[in-house]
Amino acid sequence: MLVFKKVSNLQKHLNKVRKSGQKIGFAPTMGALHQGHLSLIKQSKAQNDCTVCSIFVNPTQFDDKKDLKKYPRTTSQDTALLESVETEVLFLPSVEEVYPSNQVVRNDFDFGQLAKVMEGAFREGHFEGMAQVVNRLLEIVQPHNLYMGQKDFQQLTIVRDLLRQTNSSTNLVMCPIIREQDGLAMSSRNVRLSPENRQKAVVLSQTLLKVKERLGQASIAELESFAMTHLKLPDFRPEYFQIVDGVSLQAIENLEDSKLIVACVACWAGDIRLIDNMIFKNNLK
Ligand code: AMP
Repeated sequence: MLVFKKVSNLQKHLNKVRKSGQKIGFAPTMGALHQGHLSLIKQSKAQNDCTVCSIFVNPTQFDDKKDLKKYPRTTSQDTALLESVETEVLFLPSVEEVYPSNQVVRNDFDFGQLAKVMEGAFREGHFEGMAQVVNRLLEIVQPHNLYMGQKDFQQLTIVRDLLRQTNSSTNLVMCPIIREQDGLAMSSRNVRLSPENRQKAVVLSQTLLKVKERLGQASIAELESFAMTHLKLPDFRPEYFQIVDGVSLQAIENLEDSKLIVACVACWAGDIRLIDNMIFKNNLK
């Protein structure tokens, strides 16, 4: 695996790869890698000649500076994991490489309602920071295919809109959510859960499944309120449980109105914020 810290060195290498007609797949991450991240790498490796993984804890997308400080950083373990799945390129830039002081990094995108609901309503500035870094990384890597997880469904929807706004030719590939055995969606933040809250955290995926079973038997509002009540375990504080149109991310009133329906949830477990989602219906295409 080649490891690059400098944009210029990475670009020199990728230009050669591109010139030789090889396809480049890209999976941006913030490190503390787990099997969810590796599933993105594996999918990229199956569909491209050269897979680039970036590890960059992007300061501009953290609305909570304490969360940024506490974000797990496990670079040598991450490097070994990426080696184990034969990743071709690891990009490990510093903040100065991504945001050079002599260069304005574009941050003038408008995602309208997509960025105002759910995560956007609870994490001010998060999606602006996320879009800024994804756009900058895409300018640097210029991949044919971009791999992102359904785990962050709203993020992926916003990146799809970013690609549209920038007339990008990069193809976005959504990878399924990888879960622990009990159903908890894998996340770099899970290691910070207390043992008791780790056990209880299965309530997110269980609630999504319970609501899916009850779909059509109660109104959307009733299902959402059932879910919020179900999530209120001791030390757990649900922020939202919303059943939305998977394209516009706006609330739906009845199931027939949308071809793609997704339920999204965010819940605090002690001082760790967890998110999860489930596709309830997909009749797109
Ligand atoms: P992060 O390091 O949290 O920024 O995540 C980097 C990428 O990995 C994003 O596209 C996430 O959606 C994806 N990802 C994170 N957790 C999972 C998971 N459990 N299953 C699949 N993809 C994931």
